[in-house]
Formats: sequence, C-alpha cells, structure tokens
Amino acid sequence: MKKENKRNKLNKYVYEVQLLDEEWFIFNLLNFNYVISDKSLKQTEIAELDSDTREVLYDLGFISDIDEQTLCQSRIKEWKNKIKSDYNPSFETLVFKIMPTLLCNFRCSYCYQPELYLEETRRKTEYMRTEVLDAFFEYIENNIIQKEKRKIRLEIVGGEVFLKNRNAIRFVEHLIEKTINYNMELIFVTNG
Ligand code: SF4
Repeated sequence: MKKENKRNKLNKYVYEVQLLDEEWFIFNLLNFNYVISDKSLKQTEIAELDSDTREVLYDLGFISDIDEQTLCQSRIKEWKNKIKSDYNPSFETLVFKIMPTLLCNFRCSYCYQPELYLEETRRKTEYMRTEVLDAFFEYIENNIIQKEKRKIRLEIVGGEVFLKNRNAIRFVEHLIEKTINYNMELIFVTNG
C-alpha cells in the first residue's frame, strides 16, 4: 500500500467520546481498534498531524486510502466468512437462555439492572406467562426437534427465577414438566 496515497480525514466509522478534559476514547467500529488521545480527532485537521501520528492512525485503520464503502463491504465479507467458519452444526448441544423475569429479591451492588428495582418499574414488570413458554416450545418442536438430532439445553436466568409468587411457581412447574417431556437439559441460575 502506498503511504503517500493516504487520505487526510478520519473514516466515518470512527467513533469518539470525551472521557476527561484532555482524554478522548477513539474507537474504530470496523475493526474494534481504539486509542486514548489528548484531543478529539474529529475536531482535528488530520493533514496537520505529524507523520508518526498519522502513521499510527493509518495502521489502526482510522484513516485509510480505501474508500469507506469498500472498507465497510470488505469488513462485512470478513464477518460473514467468520460466522460461516465458526458455525458448526455438529455441536452436540444447542443452548437457549430464557429470562422469565427481571425482578429480584436481592440488591447486589454490582447488579447490571438496578433500575428495575424501582417501584414504578417493578409494577410494570411481570413474570413470563406460561403461554409464552408454550409458544417457545411449539417453535422449538417445529423448527428444531423435528429437524435436528442435537440435544437442547435451557438455561433459565433472571432477575431471580425462584421468586415467591404465584406466577413464578406456575412458570417453573410448567417449565419442568415441558423439559421432562422433551428430554431437555435444564439449568437455573439463581441467587439462593
Ligand atoms: S441476584 Fe442477580 S439480578 Fe439479583 S440483584 Fe443480584 S446481580 Fe442483580
């Protein structure tokens, strides 16, 4: 690649966010490269940067002598090939995760969904109805069980799955019954 042909502007797939007064996180959405910079690159004339900095930006794909559309298409092609090569239908077990509720009886400091404990949200949030579970099993039966030989594992996560309420008890009982009928593996992630 001829370096003298490098373009003097960032490609549009570069995303940046200011962390501190003089600290910017600059991320390339196409190849996941990033740098921490003391200034915004979007507000900088790339042509005025010194050649070493431009070299780094070039190596990280922040500036490129390939047009953006071609660059994007080539990344999409790479991802498609990767997905194809990673997909292996001979995997023995197909895993589904089901989150029947986001409610929880704990208040862990590291929880990723603390806003769901707020009362107003709590009132709106319910436990998954058994009809939804039935629809899921119907889909699995028609689209997977009848067509594939793989084992199926269900991983049930929350919130807390084993809440003390009528909906939760009904859901768990129904789920256990179904997985026994279909001979599936069943795993619960619980805090108790
Ligand atoms: S048990 Fe899980 S869902 Fe409940 S508060 Fe703790 S981290 Fe959050």
